[in-house]
Amino acid sequence: MIPALREVDEVQALYLQFLQALGEAGFRGDLSPCYASRTVLATDNSIYQVLPQAVVYPRNTRDLQLIMELAEREEFHQVVLSPRGGGTGTNGQSLTDGLVVDVSRHMNRILEINPGERWVRVQAGVVKDQLNAALAPHGLFFAPELSTSNRATIGGMINTDASGQGSCVYGKTRDHVLELSTVLMGGELWQSAPLGDEQLRETSAREDRVGRVHRVCDQIAWDKAELIERKFPKLNRCLTGYDLAHIRRNDTFDLNSVLCGSEGTLGFIAEAKLNVLPIPKCAALINLKYDHFQDALRDATELMRAGPTSIETVDSKVLQLAMEDIVWHSVSEFFPVGDRPVRGINLVEYTADSEEELDSALERFTAQIDALIGQPGKSFGYSIARGHAEVSRIWGMRKRAVGLLGNVQGEKRPIPFVEDTAVPPEHLADFIAEFRAVLDDAGLSYGMFGHVDAGVLHVRPAIDMKDPEQAALVRPITDKVAALTQKYHGLLWGEHGKGVRSEYAPAFFGELYPELQKIKAAFDPRNQLNPGKIATPSRISALLKIDEVVTRGELDRAIPVQVWDGYSEGVHCNGNGACFNWNPDDPMCPSYKATRERIHSPKGRAMLMKEWLRQLSAKGVDPVGAARRFREQSFFVGLPGRIKNTLARARGEYDFNHEVNEAMQGCLACKSCAGQCPVKVDVPEFRSKFLELYYSRYLRPLKDYFVGGLEFVMPQLARMPQLYNWPLKLKPVRWLLERGLGLADSPPLARKSLHKSMHELGVPYASPDCLAAMGPAQRERAVILVQDAFTSYFDAEVVADTLRLLKQLDFFPLVAPFRANGKPLHVHGFLRQFQRVALVNSEMLAELAASGVPLVGVDPSMTLTYRGEYGKLLGERAPKVQLLQEWLAGQREHLERQRHRLRPASFHLLPHCTEQTIATASLRDWQSVFTALGLELHTENLGCCGMAGTYGHETGHKETSRVIFQQSWAPRLSGDTGPLLASGYSCRCQATRFAGVTLRHPLQGVLAQLRG
Ligand SMILES: Cc1cc2nc3c(=O)[nH]c(=O)nc-3n(C[C@H](O)[C@H](O)[C@H](O)COP(=O)(O)OP(=O)(O)OC[C@H]3O[C@@H](n4cnc5c(N)ncnc54)[C@H](O)[C@@H]3O)c2cc1C
Ligand code: SF4
Ligand code: SF4
Repeated sequence: MIPALREVDEVQALYLQFLQALGEAGFRGDLSPCYASRTVLATDNSIYQVLPQAVVYPRNTRDLQLIMELAEREEFHQVVLSPRGGGTGTNGQSLTDGLVVDVSRHMNRILEINPGERWVRVQAGVVKDQLNAALAPHGLFFAPELSTSNRATIGGMINTDASGQGSCVYGKTRDHVLELSTVLMGGELWQSAPLGDEQLRETSAREDRVGRVHRVCDQIAWDKAELIERKFPKLNRCLTGYDLAHIRRNDTFDLNSVLCGSEGTLGFIAEAKLNVLPIPKCAALINLKYDHFQDALRDATELMRAGPTSIETVDSKVLQLAMEDIVWHSVSEFFPVGDRPVRGINLVEYTADSEEELDSALERFTAQIDALIGQPGKSFGYSIARGHAEVSRIWGMRKRAVGLLGNVQGEKRPIPFVEDTAVPPEHLADFIAEFRAVLDDAGLSYGMFGHVDAGVLHVRPAIDMKDPEQAALVRPITDKVAALTQKYHGLLWGEHGKGVRSEYAPAFFGELYPELQKIKAAFDPRNQLNPGKIATPSRISALLKIDEVVTRGELDRAIPVQVWDGYSEGVHCNGNGACFNWNPDDPMCPSYKATRERIHSPKGRAMLMKEWLRQLSAKGVDPVGAARRFREQSFFVGLPGRIKNTLARARGEYDFNHEVNEAMQGCLACKSCAGQCPVKVDVPEFRSKFLELYYSRYLRPLKDYFVGGLEFVMPQLARMPQLYNWPLKLKPVRWLLERGLGLADSPPLARKSLHKSMHELGVPYASPDCLAAMGPAQRERAVILVQDAFTSYFDAEVVADTLRLLKQLDFFPLVAPFRANGKPLHVHGFLRQFQRVALVNSEMLAELAASGVPLVGVDPSMTLTYRGEYGKLLGERAPKVQLLQEWLAGQREHLERQRHRLRPASFHLLPHCTEQTIATASLRDWQSVFTALGLELHTENLGCCGMAGTYGHETGHKETSRVIFQQSWAPRLSGDTGPLLASGYSCRCQATRFAGVTLRHPLQGVLAQLRG
């Protein structure tokens, strides 16, 4: 039995008082001093981990003002505040040991779009892709680009002055900021926009903080003009934060240039008015291949002269990582594998307002390349992607690149600390040569890519931060790289902001640094806003130092190696935030999307898991050993203790285990994280390990036993379905199931059993004997359908129709005898029982597979268990069960011969989320099957349906399940549903339950098209 974990770091009394005062003052957002939220918000994508005292989630601008008003009160002068958006910073910008003010949860509305004047007004928590999705129908977009566009907020972008691909044409975030609504220390709300002389005079004359900051900034801009001109580099990626070089432009004074990039050290941005641009009508991307990364870099400078919109360079390591990732299937056609190794790629983008204009630009450019192709240092081949759809697929791959750099095996993991240097592009190749020498001398491996057009390089050296010797490399390498950037007239902080690396600011700014301190002091005299970053308000307060802030690695060291390895599917989360994906039509991660609580995201769960392991380790408990011992015990051993502990829980006794449990219970086990997370964090895998141990200490709810046992009772119940179905119609029974057992809207068993349909169709059960008796012709067309409890017993018509169609298409289908698959057991953490079931089932399937006849499963989620959970348990011995479409795609020629028997038709496939994320290529298989049969199939981009096995049927999850369904599926099913097909049993079930729509399985769609 695992111990209770009660000794967590307590919230300081001052902060509890602050939260109480906030509540009393009428704060409308959420206040969270709970250890789970603090743990999850203790990290961003940086190497650091800083535990905040609490987290608050303001609901509106007034809430932000209340925070600042209180912070100004004398009793709260020691309270420090760190605003936070998507939390994707790579340098600890949003980390604090004070109070996190997370604006992303509630303040995320797009307030106004003015297409005529081309501007928008948004709240600070709006995500960049969310904004662009809303702008797209108007033909407009918010131009500054960044790799984290699907989770970074506008507030975060403004505060890091974000930019990325295309910055040479579109500039940085600051270039598109028209007005900012900023809450200043003390609570004043200031609307900043460029001011003429008269307006500036009036504003500067004010007695309040607004007046003070204008006076100070204006004074510095005049007095230090020459110094500012000298110190601020003339780069495309010019300095972010307190940007005095741009405070005066076109005879106006613009405070926004100081606020943009200020990393939350000057105020809270509540709203922003932003300039937006027309989406270029046409786009193309030329993908050039090189023998060496260095060649690609040098050539890029030359290629820039041809005037493309942007150029990005990727090295072979990044390319290799992309090839191993889910993203590759969408771009592989542009990077065909040939004999000649590709060690560098330039992605050259052209945009235009007409196809003719684009054609002539491409003609000029390709003529230039063709003339030099294959020459030393030049590209040896290229492909062209044309149109927004193709171009965005390749940019999508490039965007994942930073995250992918984290996906290497072993303990040395690529980490950000010198990852965004910028130098004048003409020096980039020489700078990189020296940069490489620094890393090579330290014996580090690394991948590289960059915005070569802007001279920005992304590098993440691989370091095991758990190893103190390796961790100590961060200091000397940063020092050397900082010196190198100075040598080449560039910047250490070229793109991702300063954060903890602000310690290099005084040396960089020299005599200008005290002026930055004056600005900070005017806004925040007591250093309460994100202290230690960018500048301090006085000489006594200090900037953070890169080796004096606690790193994740230091905390991870406390977890023994065997425990770390035993939970390898969760411990490598690097916080890049890809799991906070905003897009409702993307399967990643439904529980976060529905709740917007970060503890209910893959990152949240991974962080909590790691903290749980750390706390167990501190108590000398090895969870791997504890699980082994627990599996060997009888159910009754420890039962009295479990009862006692459960009663203590009911009395409200604190145990960190409960906080972790709450986060785990919210997971749908949909596995999207396992497929889509760039470092393959697999929540369902460690969740079941946690649940197993949690229930070694506490009693399980009854429904877990019911759900876990479902597969075993189903065959018996299916003999007399009326006996099961009839009571389900009775209100009191439904009420009892929902309230007593915790299961809502249980579906009825199929009225006609699969067994009966098989008999009618003449489909036999597969057995080693009957397989052995088959002749060669029959064997060639034979396939064994592996049953799963859900389709076989609740949706038997789908299996029957599949058999019917296979027979009609001249195949010889057989059905494997039903055996429990065990997935529900795994999901609920009955791991001992799962192992037993998996072994029995595998043995049976191995006997059938020995015949050489392929095994195929109908339901995507249950079938993929064989390569996921079974694979982890049994390795190579795991049964090879294909998805229907994977097997059928291999029968293409035969299907083509049957084409004449089908009437042509067009369908839309609503794919199952697990299929989309774990077996991405299989969606193409569906398409190729339909094409072979002369049918058209369009695959929709969709999120999770919210059912995920039994999750949606659990009473406690019913409402979240409904919210998830409403986000992506409901809009797709409303109105004219057309010929829609859904591959997952859960999805079909959910569509009937919440939308009253009956969806067919893809093969039922095909069956309906058979002539005669
Ligand atoms: C994989 C990866 C790729 C990246 N690629 C790019 C890239 O291409 N280009 C780029 O520029 N950056 C990139 N970044 C860095 C990061 O995504 C950006 O800095 C982004 O702008 C941060 O936005 P956020 O909402 O996550 O802000 P957070 O990380 O939450 O905060 C960033 C800073 O802004 C402050 N802040 C946030 N909201 C407010 C507010 N409302 N008021 C006041 N202060 C606030 C915080 O205090 C903090 O100092 C990348 C990061 C990762 C992990
Ligand atoms: S779980 Fe994966 S996607 Fe989410 S933050 Fe961690 S590493 Fe990134
Ligand atoms: S399994 Fe699904 S719900 Fe659970 S953490 Fe992963 S993506 Fe989120």
